[in-house]
Amino acid sequence: MGAKPKLSMYWAASCGGCEIALVNLNEKILAVDAAFDFMFCPCLLDTKKKDIEALPDGDIAITLFNGSLRTEENREMAHLMRKKSKILIAFGSCSSAGCVTALGNLSPKGENFKTIYLDSPSVDNPKGIIPTPHTTVPEGVLELPAYLDRVKSLAQEVDVDYFIPGCPPEPHQIWSVIQAVTSGKPLPPKGSVLGGGTSSVCEECSRTRGDKKIKELRRTFDFKPEPDLCLLEQGLICMGIATRNGCGALCPKVNMPCTGCYGPPEGVEDQGAKMIGALGSIVDVEGLKELKEEEINTKVDEWIRSIPDLAGTFYKYTLAESLLNQLKGRKK
Ligand code: SF4
Ligand code: SF4
Ligand code: SF4
Repeated sequence: MGAKPKLSMYWAASCGGCEIALVNLNEKILAVDAAFDFMFCPCLLDTKKKDIEALPDGDIAITLFNGSLRTEENREMAHLMRKKSKILIAFGSCSSAGCVTALGNLSPKGENFKTIYLDSPSVDNPKGIIPTPHTTVPEGVLELPAYLDRVKSLAQEVDVDYFIPGCPPEPHQIWSVIQAVTSGKPLPPKGSVLGGGTSSVCEECSRTRGDKKIKELRRTFDFKPEPDLCLLEQGLICMGIATRNGCGALCPKVNMPCTGCYGPPEGVEDQGAKMIGALGSIVDVEGLKELKEEEINTKVDEWIRSIPDLAGTFYKYTLAESLLNQLKGRKK
């Protein structure tokens, strides 16, 4: 029997949840082990970077790359894994579109460091030490990977073959990708999103939608939503309308609004803009018609103020890839 194809999983700026999703394959992980030589995964295995560097180019059949690119090390590993992998998959929303780490792009590096290392209430740093790439200590020079000015998605740095959405992706998506690759059948066109649909979460949500207009936005802790009615029409910001389907509307099923982790549906370039447009169409403006311009402006300001974190609400998963980020240069 010939050697099994190699499978690797690399984490860049990530929370580790994507690795948990892989382990959540449960007993199917044995089938993965039967089909592949799972040879690189810093979270689970002790393979070193030099072992990867020693491989011939393209020797790894599939790399699932999770996490965004926050540091020079993340960037370097993106290039290394691209070079050594036949199929490079952006796995999860951090890798696909930046996710939470990309919200750091709203502030310059210096401000981020100040918040993280000096001002955070849980930090005790009386000497005001800020990490630097090189620090001289009596024992020698300590090195840390440099912090990039901006967070990038994987595709903003290297050529990516496929994208698997989700924060984290669902185990069934991972399984379907494994099956597709091992079946020997032709693979989907390069650049495809695997494990997601082309429509929106609303399409697979069983809640009843009407044409109800909303007078105010509410938060999940304000009230207990009706179990069968559309959450957006109850005043909760449910991003389902601006989010790719494929998860089975998991969050609305348990009375929680969709926060948008599958990214925008097919053909939508900017998830946040799509959602803001959808909100504009559901806001009840009947009462506003009689008001003066100034009063309307005040009303609009009130609406905006009732959303506590605009970027974190509308661009929680996709800021790096958004029009807002103004970061282009995808290599494909
Ligand atoms: S996509 Fe979500 S689960 Fe995966 S690394 Fe990013 S934050 Fe964690
Ligand atoms: S907005 Fe949310 S709750 Fe309403 S139909 Fe869409 S996914 Fe379901
Ligand atoms: S409902 Fe939305 S936030 Fe929840 S898993 Fe699905 S895409 Fe992600």
